[in-house]
Amino acid sequence: MLDEFLQSPAYVMACQQFDRVADFLDIGQSERIRTKMPKRAFIVSIPTRMDDGHTEMFTGYRVQHHLSVGPTKGGLRYHPDVTLGEVAALAMWMSWKCSLCGLPYGGAKGGVTCDPRKMSRGELERMTRRFTQEMIPFIGPHVDVMAPDLGTNEQIMAWMMDTYSMHEGNPVPQIVTGKPLSLGGSAGRKEATGRGVAYLVNRTLDNLNMKSEGTRVVVQGFGNVGSIAAQQLYRFGAKIIGVSDFSGGIHNANGLDVNKLIDYATQHGSLEGLGEGDHITNEELLELECDVLVPAALERQITEKNIGKIRCRVLAEAANGPTTIEADNVLRQRDDIFLIPDVLCNAGGVIVSYFEWVQDLQSFFWTEAEVNDKLYRQLEAAYQQVLQMSRKNKLYMRDAALALGISRIAQAKHSRGLFP
Ligand code: NAD
Repeated sequence: MLDEFLQSPAYVMACQQFDRVADFLDIGQSERIRTKMPKRAFIVSIPTRMDDGHTEMFTGYRVQHHLSVGPTKGGLRYHPDVTLGEVAALAMWMSWKCSLCGLPYGGAKGGVTCDPRKMSRGELERMTRRFTQEMIPFIGPHVDVMAPDLGTNEQIMAWMMDTYSMHEGNPVPQIVTGKPLSLGGSAGRKEATGRGVAYLVNRTLDNLNMKSEGTRVVVQGFGNVGSIAAQQLYRFGAKIIGVSDFSGGIHNANGLDVNKLIDYATQHGSLEGLGEGDHITNEELLELECDVLVPAALERQITEKNIGKIRCRVLAEAANGPTTIEADNVLRQRDDIFLIPDVLCNAGGVIVSYFEWVQDLQSFFWTEAEVNDKLYRQLEAAYQQVLQMSRKNKLYMRDAALALGISRIAQAKHSRGLFP
């Protein structure tokens, strides 16, 4: 079976999460395997001319998890640790997320094993264009639509859109989302994931009778998602007492000036060298006492080693898969922590990606206020459904969110039947 090639800690974790929920939903064996297994997985070689003239061979991946209800949708990641198995896990999570939010997509994810921080702009452009070229037989606005993720951004999406459009002979903005506005990007897409995280954190604080004002927040990862989530919460009066990126963490119990941090990170590419607060490690950051902890970097950051030391009231999983299965088994017993699971917490990104795709297909564009209004409505609906599912069935929040996402896909597969 395909999953022999996908083995990795993240894939094993995604499968275990699925199996637990499939047992709860009592999904039969035939639907179970069809719902779980990815539909397609691709590995491509990406020969790239580097600035010094030599040719570097990068490896790229794309996993399309299911195509039962529409095209697949999901980000493209540039990171040294990218593997086929990691991408497969992320594609599965995308499927459950799209389904939970009522989006007409299956999940997908892609990646290239590379270190974008060590590559020049020219090298990144050549690698991106070659990867897109290799993917052309397998993608399309009604087949598979990519978006930014860890290590990729609007510029990478612009090169992908250009490469695909040159192949087609006319502009095809709907081939990717998260593009610059000048190429048919959506107002509010860049901010959507962080904005959604902040919205759900605020809704949860309301539910717990806690005030946003003065809430102590810690954010791991200060890229697109982490920095915007921090900025939005800061605007609502929260005190951001700790942030980090790959270079380490900064702590100030009196609160950090988030806008200053964003300016510095934009100018210097990271928080390294910033003369603010006390310097701490990423491990220490996760263990800071706070009201809201937002992991917004990589997967598998909250583990059996540190789960006992996590001291927050709300854990808002902005990153995909930040909590290992072992840590999750402890977390589900801890009544002192309210979990906003990743498939719900960071869904703002794919919701506005969906809006971008719809706007591109119609060539009719919305204002940022319209986008945000629709985003909050869609997130609110998903949040209410998960809360209800959790309360009615006494389910852990992660299981409730996954149960909603998985059951709809299993139902769709059942209704379509097995071909031929
Ligand atoms: P990004 O590349 O913009 O930022 C990632 C941040 O994490 C950077 O600040 C980086 O320095 C930091 N980081 C890297 N390694 C780290 C480490 N070991 N410890 C601490 N920090 C580290 O990526 P992003 O788009 O913000 O994505 C972050 C997470 O959010 C990922 O898990 C991604 O899958 C998820 N996500 C992103 C989107 C989106 O729209 N971009 C949507 C949904 C989920």
